[in-house]
Amino acid sequence: MNNTKVISHIREIFNTSENFIPLHAPMFKGNEKAYLENCIDTTFVSSVGKYVDGFEQKLQTYTSIKKAVVCVNGTNSIHLCLEIVGVKPGDEVITQALTFIATANAICYAQAKPVFVDVDKDTMGMSPNALQHFLENNTEIRNDECYNKTSGNRIKACLPMHTFGHACRIKEIAIICSKYNIELVEDAAEAMGSFYEGRHLGNFGKMAAISFNGNKIMTTGGGGAILTNDESLAKKAKYLTTQAKVPHPWEYSHDEIGYNYRMPNINAALGLAQMEQLDFFLERKRVLAMNYKAFFESENIVFFDERPGEKCNFWLNAIILKNREEREEFLKKTNEKGVMTRPIWTLMSKLPMFKNCQHDGLQNSEWLEERVVNIPSSVI
Ligand SMILES: *Cc1c(COP(=O)(O)O)cnc(C)c1O
Repeated sequence: MNNTKVISHIREIFNTSENFIPLHAPMFKGNEKAYLENCIDTTFVSSVGKYVDGFEQKLQTYTSIKKAVVCVNGTNSIHLCLEIVGVKPGDEVITQALTFIATANAICYAQAKPVFVDVDKDTMGMSPNALQHFLENNTEIRNDECYNKTSGNRIKACLPMHTFGHACRIKEIAIICSKYNIELVEDAAEAMGSFYEGRHLGNFGKMAAISFNGNKIMTTGGGGAILTNDESLAKKAKYLTTQAKVPHPWEYSHDEIGYNYRMPNINAALGLAQMEQLDFFLERKRVLAMNYKAFFESENIVFFDERPGEKCNFWLNAIILKNREEREEFLKKTNEKGVMTRPIWTLMSKLPMFKNCQHDGLQNSEWLEERVVNIPSSVI
């Protein structure tokens, strides 16, 4: 491939006087400053305030998911989802090997052990076939619960991830999970603004987590949200994020170990202002993605497009190169020239802390790991 041509095309798109083009930069063009100023003027910068409620409300309306509970980041949102659906110390949680480290770390915070299955090549998310195959060959049902025959541990939850905002085959995964009595939690950290068959991602499992970190499609600085259609689970989430405080006008009473996972008002203020611009971000990111698609197809390079039924947020655009050598050359040339590009993640199963965890063949994960790179994807 012609790296020089790619670099000049990317420079042309972003048309900036800056020498460096980042992978994804936030954009603050709305009410961010006004809302932050209001936090300071009113002294409501911390754990309560109108922006926390306003942001949660807006998330609920936008996603059509009944309840949103905002948290300090996406990683602890995943952790709490797992704990709330009933993951206990010593349990196992099935996830994909091709994901960002936070997915696997959150499983460990719940004192459970990850099991890694393969992804589909055309979604980069968990493969229902791989999941079904793993469950068929490695598990048995005892007292209505799913047990891993090799380890003897209970498999309590399944945690697929929607890679770069692209929907995995979540409906098929949901059917398999219910057949095996496994709770489905979606790592929708990258998927704010992504829909599948008209439903926002995070609306297919029992609970879901979203991230609002600085590099995501919209940001609260640091932050995350738990989404669920189950009001009692949302209530539990609110309680666990606030040190498991039993509601009372003045008494300090706590009846289990909770967390300080609440999102401060100052972060929610930023989030609300970003939320107001989300549709604009999505529109502009789609323009960028379609530009990339046309360009890379004319260069005979595979652009990772959305599938039928999907409305992707195109958070991070991705291309699939021919092999590892081409990938290395591309990463070297682009980064040398100030165009930030990054390879997809190293498989979780290869990292020292997870290398003893059970996994399947991971052929597609390996294939993608060698070839996929992300290219600059900020709102243009
Ligand atoms: C960003 C991300 C997270 C974690 O979100 P933070 O807000 O950074 O803690 C989790 N999972 C995936 C897949 C992510 O991309």
